[in-house]
Amino acid sequence: MLCVRCNEKKTIKAHLIPQVFCKEVQVGKGHATSVKEDGSFHFSQSGTFDKGILCADCDGRLGQLEEYSAKILKLIREHSKGLSFGPKIVDGVDKEKLARFCAGILWKYSITQEQYGKVNLFGFQDDVKRIAYSEMDIPEWFDVAIFRLRTHAQDDEVFAYRAPLIDRENRVRLYRFMLGGCLFFVKVHRKKMRDDVLTELWLSYEDSFRFCIAPAEKFEEFEIAKDLSFNSEKLSSFLDRQEEMAKLNT
Ligand SMILES: [Zn+2]
Repeated sequence: MLCVRCNEKKTIKAHLIPQVFCKEVQVGKGHATSVKEDGSFHFSQSGTFDKGILCADCDGRLGQLEEYSAKILKLIREHSKGLSFGPKIVDGVDKEKLARFCAGILWKYSITQEQYGKVNLFGFQDDVKRIAYSEMDIPEWFDVAIFRLRTHAQDDEVFAYRAPLIDRENRVRLYRFMLGGCLFFVKVHRKKMRDDVLTELWLSYEDSFRFCIAPAEKFEEFEIAKDLSFNSEKLSSFLDRQEEMAKLNT
């Protein structure tokens, strides 16, 4: 397989969900799941990967953004403990890197196979790639809003991750995915949103970085993860096995 970006002959095991985020999911206590649009799911400690899309160099460049973003999301989780729900400001966050990170995640999912949860970026695929690789300024049609989904006031953990899927908010196409305990809405659409409730949360809004603390139980990500954990024998047995392994290691 050739690298989709640079045609290099040798591709590597590229993680669609970066490993750093998979490791954070609290297995046993929580739910190491990734849920697709049709309700099917897969679980993995090492993450879902595709061996046929990227070379080491092209994957590594996205990996730098992923490492930075994982640090920021951890900071968001820690910063959220004990605070009230609603928008919060954090200084010193490189919003551009976060936006390019989101572009990288979406682009990887747009070049992978259907079985791994391929998403359609419609006419934006090439530009989303260029955003991910810093080959263009972040355009007005690309924007990101981040919610920290907290299960209780002192929660600083991660209950699940979720691969990207298309969501629609009034006339505008959004992509949603969950990593690092935070839910991302990524706007990849030229239309402006009517009555945009996310106005102050978009990364493009003013200078400071903002995110919103929200109760996890109000979001489908939490509901799906909970249902799967209680209803799916397959998942339960997997989680039990992981707990046993955790005991063996200690
Ligand atoms: Zn390459």
